Amino acid sequence: EVIVVGSINMDLVSKVEQFPLPGQTIHSHDVAFHPGGKGANQAVAASRAGAVTRMIGAVGSDAFGQPLIESLKQYGVSTEGISVVAGVSGLAFITVSGSGENQIVLCEGANGQVSRDRLNSLADSWTEATIVLLQNEIPWAANEAVLERASEAGARVFYNPAPAAAVPDHALAKVHTLFLNETETEAITGQLPEDTASLEAAAGQLLRKGARAVVITLGADGCYYADAEGARLRLPAFRVQPVDTTAAGDTFIGAYAAAVQDGKQPEEALKFAAAASAIGVTREGAQSSVPSREEIEQFLIG
Ligand code: ADP
Repeated sequence: EVIVVGSINMDLVSKVEQFPLPGQTIHSHDVAFHPGGKGANQAVAASRAGAVTRMIGAVGSDAFGQPLIESLKQYGVSTEGISVVAGVSGLAFITVSGSGENQIVLCEGANGQVSRDRLNSLADSWTEATIVLLQNEIPWAANEAVLERASEAGARVFYNPAPAAAVPDHALAKVHTLFLNETETEAITGQLPEDTASLEAAAGQLLRKGARAVVITLGADGCYYADAEGARLRLPAFRVQPVDTTAAGDTFIGAYAAAVQDGKQPEEALKFAAAASAIGVTREGAQSSVPSREEIEQFLIG
């Protein structure tokens, strides 16, 4: 089983010609609601890629809470671990201008109430067969409870410290695989991943602190993998025409987890993840762009 402990958001996207100035009221010519949040996106990606997937998190008692749960169910994710708490759901107010720039106001809402106590009470959830996915959109104390309990039980924790924040060394020692994009790599290691030497330096730093494996994703340049056993892999991305790269990283991580859960070795799992995210970037949206296992396998056959 893949268990995702993380954020569940509704993205409220409005398109405008130009951003409003302070005090100004303008009209939007296009408004849409999309279920999002890094945790939920990764859960959808793992489930669509074929893993039995459970989401643990929280939504609000507002009008968005139930639709967010229903959307996850529709993608095959089990939702019994999602609590409904008083107040607003996680919301992202996204405004996109005519030139394609965006402004985002993020409100953590119910995600801020995923607590250490609640996660300690779920201790029975983790076993050696579990892969747990974590990100940085719930309180750090909750992530820490998961790292402790899950690693005690021998579960593999895949951690994506996004949005980027420093990762304490004691936490790194409990991580099985760390996933970083270029921004997160620079913020966390101080190394801009430009060439083999800087990739090796960044990954080496994290492996020395106790992570068992590190995956650095490089957008259209593919990814880099390093592990504590000394394996090093540099894989290209698949060449596609991207239309919307939102959640490329989330799709990659969810698909990688599903592949590892399925018994695939790192190289094959990375190819599977690269195929999933390549398909994803050719489609609009976040969760709605995530491909199914059949689509990924078909893409890999060519
Ligand atoms: P994030 O979305 O977290 O910033 P990346 O941009 O590094 O993550 O993308 C994650 C993965 O998605 C890449 O390693 C690659 O496999 C795939 N990907 C991203 N952008 C493209 C693209 N333009 N073409 C093909 N694959 C892509």
